[in-house]
Amino acid sequence: MCVGCRTKTAASGLLRVVAVDGTLVPDPRRRYPGRGAWVHPDIGCLRLAERRRAFPRALRSAGVLDTVAVYAFLT
Ligand SMILES: [Zn+2]
Repeated sequence: MCVGCRTKTAASGLLRVVAVDGTLVPDPRRRYPGRGAWVHPDIGCLRLAERRRAFPRALRSAGVLDTVAVYAFLT
């Protein structure tokens, strides 16, 4: 499920992101271990997820996650 728009989508249609040292990192090859969050590869969904603080919740991460790397990946 996309953490932004909360629409159920097959994993192949979603971008996996993980938290590394307080930064949200895109993981298109699904290489990073541990907990990941899934979001449509779409700026709108990324913004929605940010607004809902969906990433820290999905990743069980305290505090704010820097999403700059994911924005850069999508643009
Ligand atoms: Zn979405």
